[in-house]
Amino acid sequence: MAPAAMPTTDNATDSGLWQAGWYRFAKALRSPNFGPRPASAQTDLIVLHSISLPPGEYGGNAVQQLFTNQLDWDAHPYFQGIRGLEVSSHFYVRRNGELWQFVSCDDRAWHAGVSSWRGRGNCNDDSIGIELEGLEGEHFEAPQYETLASLCAAIAQHYAIAHIAGHEHIAPGRKQDPGSGFDWRLLREHLGWNPRMFPEQVAQR
Ligand SMILES: [Zn+2]
Repeated sequence: MAPAAMPTTDNATDSGLWQAGWYRFAKALRSPNFGPRPASAQTDLIVLHSISLPPGEYGGNAVQQLFTNQLDWDAHPYFQGIRGLEVSSHFYVRRNGELWQFVSCDDRAWHAGVSSWRGRGNCNDDSIGIELEGLEGEHFEAPQYETLASLCAAIAQHYAIAHIAGHEHIAPGRKQDPGSGFDWRLLREHLGWNPRMFPEQVAQR
């Protein structure tokens, strides 16, 4: 039984895990790169990505800097090619499983670009984006799968998630992340979700 003095929130649907779309177990670092979701949006999709800056180099802070418009474009030759890019994701999972959050899941982050899935375009409108520190085609670390699985489960407790897909699935030909090194079967086993929630390409893999 709940104690009588338990504080209440404005939003009665917020569990202890969530506060206005912010996940309790993530390090919060607010990005300016977001906007409101369309009023009609039903957030039912999780999109998985991979990212590292420069590509293949792990452990630095360039991704957090990129998502907060703080990246020094002159610090590395690779950054010249993405100069001025304004993007974000809701979450970022480091190689050691450390979890960061940049945008409230109640808001629209800028991770998917031109995209389409389950018959709907503009996937940023109604998806939650999760970046994994990594490189397309390379493997991911066990702590990343553990963090990812617990995060996805927590998201699904709070949002009516019906689909999960990679950037490569919602923007085929244009994007390849998280790539062939990502173990969809392992994530599926961790989550125990219906295979029909996953892309056909990976549901049987
Ligand atoms: Zn991506």
